[in-house]
Amino acid sequence: VKFVYDFTEGNKDLKDLLGGKGANLAEMTNLGLPVPPGFTITTEACKVYLDSGDEPAALRDEVTAHLDALEAKMGKKLGQADDPLLVSVRSGAKFSMPGMMDTVLNIGLSDKSVQGLAKQSGDDRFAWDSYRRLIQMFGKTVLGVDGELFEDALEKAKQAKKVTVDTDLDAAELKKLVTKFKKIVKTEAGRDFPQDSREQMDLAIHAVFDSWNTDRAKLYRRQERIPGDLGTAVNVCSMVFGNLGPDSGTGVAFTRDPASGQQGVYGDYLQNAQGEDVVAGIRNTVPLAELEQLDKKSYDQLMQIMETLETHYKDLCDIEFTIERGQLWMLQTRVGKRTAGAAFRIATQLVDQGLIDEAEALQRVNGAQLAQLMFPRFDEDAKVEQLGRGIAASPGAAVGKAVFDSYTAIKWSRSGEKVILIRRETNPDDLDGMIAAEGILTSRGGKTSHAAVVARGMGKTCVCGAEDLEVDTKRRRLTVNGHVVEEGDVVSIDGSTGKVYLGEVPVVPSPVVEYFEGRMHAGADDADELVKAVHRIMAYADRVRRLRVRANADNAEDALRARRFGAQGIGLCRTEHMFLGERRELVEHLILADTDEERENALKELLPLQKKDFIELFEAMDGLPVTVRLLDPPLHEFLPDITELSVRVALAESRKDHNENDLRLLQAVHRLHEQNPMLGLRGVRLGLVIPGLFTMQVRAIAEAAAERKNAKGDPRAEIMIPLVGTVQELEIVREEAEQVIADVERATGVHLKLALGTMIELPRAALTAGQIAEAAEFFSFGTNDLTQTVWGFSRDDVEASFFTAYLEKGIFGVSPFETIDKDGVGKLVRDAAAAGRATRPDLKLGVCGEHGGDPESVHFFHEVGLDYVSCSPFRIPVARLEAGRAAS
Ligand code: ADP
Ligand code: MG
Ligand code: MG
Repeated sequence: VKFVYDFTEGNKDLKDLLGGKGANLAEMTNLGLPVPPGFTITTEACKVYLDSGDEPAALRDEVTAHLDALEAKMGKKLGQADDPLLVSVRSGAKFSMPGMMDTVLNIGLSDKSVQGLAKQSGDDRFAWDSYRRLIQMFGKTVLGVDGELFEDALEKAKQAKKVTVDTDLDAAELKKLVTKFKKIVKTEAGRDFPQDSREQMDLAIHAVFDSWNTDRAKLYRRQERIPGDLGTAVNVCSMVFGNLGPDSGTGVAFTRDPASGQQGVYGDYLQNAQGEDVVAGIRNTVPLAELEQLDKKSYDQLMQIMETLETHYKDLCDIEFTIERGQLWMLQTRVGKRTAGAAFRIATQLVDQGLIDEAEALQRVNGAQLAQLMFPRFDEDAKVEQLGRGIAASPGAAVGKAVFDSYTAIKWSRSGEKVILIRRETNPDDLDGMIAAEGILTSRGGKTSHAAVVARGMGKTCVCGAEDLEVDTKRRRLTVNGHVVEEGDVVSIDGSTGKVYLGEVPVVPSPVVEYFEGRMHAGADDADELVKAVHRIMAYADRVRRLRVRANADNAEDALRARRFGAQGIGLCRTEHMFLGERRELVEHLILADTDEERENALKELLPLQKKDFIELFEAMDGLPVTVRLLDPPLHEFLPDITELSVRVALAESRKDHNENDLRLLQAVHRLHEQNPMLGLRGVRLGLVIPGLFTMQVRAIAEAAAERKNAKGDPRAEIMIPLVGTVQELEIVREEAEQVIADVERATGVHLKLALGTMIELPRAALTAGQIAEAAEFFSFGTNDLTQTVWGFSRDDVEASFFTAYLEKGIFGVSPFETIDKDGVGKLVRDAAAAGRATRPDLKLGVCGEHGGDPESVHFFHEVGLDYVSCSPFRIPVARLEAGRAAS
C-alpha cells in the first residue's frame, strides 16, 4: 500500500484516505490554485500507528522520497542552514474537528537555520518570531509542555517592553524569548528542543497521530457521532509567511454568510500574522472587505478564487489564506459549516443559481436543522434591558445564569440549572463547559473564532466578540457601561441578532412554526426568506417521499395541530389518557368491583365518555386513519400511590375514623402490586382478564364511528391491540371485537369498516409475526417497548444509572431509545415486516414511539419498507423532511 500522496496526486473524493484537509488541498492544487506544495500521509498509516504503537515499516522511506521531491521543487532543503525549507505538519481527519487536533508550523528552524532565514528574508524580527512560535507550538503539542508557561513568558516580555501586542517586540527581544522558551522545554520536557529538522518533523507527525485520541477529540467525536476508528491524516505543507511585515497577513473567509446564507464578502483578516493568530483573538482583525484597501491585487484574486471554489464545490466554502509580501496562498478550504437557517437558504439559492437540483438541495439540509429552526425566539416587543451587542455567531435564544468557567458550567448544569458560559474567548479546554451551557457569550473573536465555530457545529446559541463587555473570569463578573453582572445573575443572549440582555427575556414561536401552523404564508411578498426556503424544500420532500407520516395524538387539539403540521393520520391514540382526571373515580369503581354487576355499571358509565372523545378525534382527523390503542398500562397506575394511601388509612385508623372505600382501595393496590409492572398485567392481558373492558372500548369506537358517518363524516378508525405475544391472544380479542362491531352495525344501520391490528412490541410477537399476521390487518411496531424487551433495559431506570458509562465506553454512540438499534431491534422489525407481509401481502406496517421522529431511524424505516412512521406533532415536519431525504 501507498502511505504518502503528493498534493498533486489526490482529489476531493479521497477524504477517507487523505482526510478532509488533505483531499481539498489536493483538489485546489489540481484546480491550479496557489497552494504551497506538500504531501499527505494517509489515515491508513495513522491506523497502523495507533493499533501497533509504531508507524508502518514502509512509511519512513516513503516520507523521505516525498520530502526529497519537495526539496527539489523548492530548491532548498528542510532546515538547510543558509536558506531553510520550512514546513507545517498539520492534522486533518475525514470530518473537520475544529480546534481538536494539533498543527505545528515552521518546522525546520533551528539555532543555525534561524540565521539563514533572517538573512534570506532580510528580516531578523520575522526569523526570530517564527522560531519562537515553533518552539512554543512544538513544546506544547509534541512535547506536552503546559502552553501557559510560554504564554506567560511572552506576556512578561511584552510587559517589560511596555507594549501590548506581540508585533511590537523586536528581534533582540524575540531572540531572548527563544532562549527562555528553550529553557522551559528543557525543564518541563526533560530534553532539549530538537535541532535536527527531520527529527522535528517525525516527532510532529507522531504527535498528530496521537492527537486523534486526546480526551478533547474523543468528546467531540461522541458529540458529533463521528466513529472513533477513522484516524487522522497528516499534511506536510511548505510554509508561507504572513508574518513578514505589513504587506503580509493571514485570514479566513466564507464564500457566503454562514449565519444567514447571504452572498457577500465575509471573513476576517489580520496583517503581519501567522496561523492561528486570526482566530485566537489575540489582536483585532479587520473585516475582509478592508483587504481591498490594503492589497487590491490579492483581494481581487481572492474574490476570483472564492467564485471558482463555489462553482466547483457547488456549496458554501470556508477558506484559510495567507498573503506573503503581496503573494496570495491558499492554505485550506472545505465545504463550510453553517447555521440551520443558512442551510435551508443556501440550498434554495444554489437551486436558483442552477448549481444544484432540488434532489441535491434536499440532501443539503436535515431534520436536526429543521428541529432547531422550530425553537422559540426572543419576543421583540418585550421590555428588556440590553447590556450590549456582539456578533450573531450561532442562532437561538438562550437564557441562563452567568458562569465564567467551564467547571462551574458543568457543575451547575448537573444540578439542573440553565447556564450561559461567559468567557473572554474560548479554547478547546472549554468544550465540556460549552456542551453543558445553554449558550455561549464571548467578548472577543469574530465569526470564525473557536467559540463561534464550535457552537455552530453543536447547534448551540452563541454571541461572540461583544467588545463592550469586560469579562473578568478571575473575579467571576462582567462589567458593561456601569452594570455589573455577577456569577449566578440571569442573562439572555440572542444568537440571531447578537444582542445580550440582563434578566430573562420572554420567548415567542419561531417563524418556521408560525408557517407550519398556517399563521404565516410562504407565498406572501413580505414572507421571511427562511420560511420561503423551508416551504420549497418541504414541498419537494413531500413530493418524493414514500413513507407517510402520522402523529401520536390523544385529543382533538393535538390532532388538529398535527394536521396543520402535515400529519396524514394518527398512528397512536393512547386511550389511557382518557381515563385520567375526574374519570379516575370511575376507573376505581371498575377496579374495585366485586360483582359482575358493579363492573358492568362502571363500564357503562365510562362508555359515553370514551365515545365522546372518539367522536371529537375522528372529526378532527376526518378522512384520515386514526389508530386507537386499547388500554395498555397496568391498572394500578390509575390508583393512588401506595405509600400515600397507606399513610391515609393509618391516620384514619388512629383517629378511629373508618373509611371503607380507602380500605378497599388499599387492598386493591396491594393485590395489584407487581414487582415488574412493565412485564405484568397490562396490554392485551388486561383485555383478556377484565371482562368487558376492551369490548367497552371497541363499542365506544364503533358507536363514535357510526355517529360520524351519520353526520356525513369520513371516520377511518383502526383498532390496535397492545402487547400481544402470541396469535391466540389476538384471536380471542378479535372475535369479541367483531361481535361488538356487528352489534353496533345492526343497531345503527351503519356499515363500519374498522381495521383491527396489533402492536409488535415483544420479541415473541416479532419472532412469530407470520402467525400473528393471520389475525392482524396491520402491525405497528412499538419500538420503545421492543427496545426495552430486546435489550432487557428498563427505560425508566437505565438512562440515569448506567447509560452514561455505556456512552463513555463507546458501547453505543447514542442511546437505543433515541435512535433505533439497527442490528438488534431493527433486525426484528425488518424480519417481522417481511414475515407479516408473506402471510398477508396487504398488511399495513407502521411504527409508533419516539423513533418515528428520529432522523436516522426514519431512514431505517424507509429502507425496511414500512408504510408510515408516527411521531409527536412537533416532530412531524422533521419526519416528513427525513422521509423525503431517505427516498431521494
Ligand atoms: P486547523 O485544522 O486547526 O485549522 P491547520 O492545519 O489548518 O489547523 O493550521 C493551523 C493554522 O496554521 C491555520 O491558520 C493555517 O492556515 C496555518 N498554516 C498551516 N500550514 C501553513 C503553512 N504551510 N504556511 C502558513 N500557514 C500555515
Ligand atoms: Mg485550518
Ligand atoms: Mg408499548
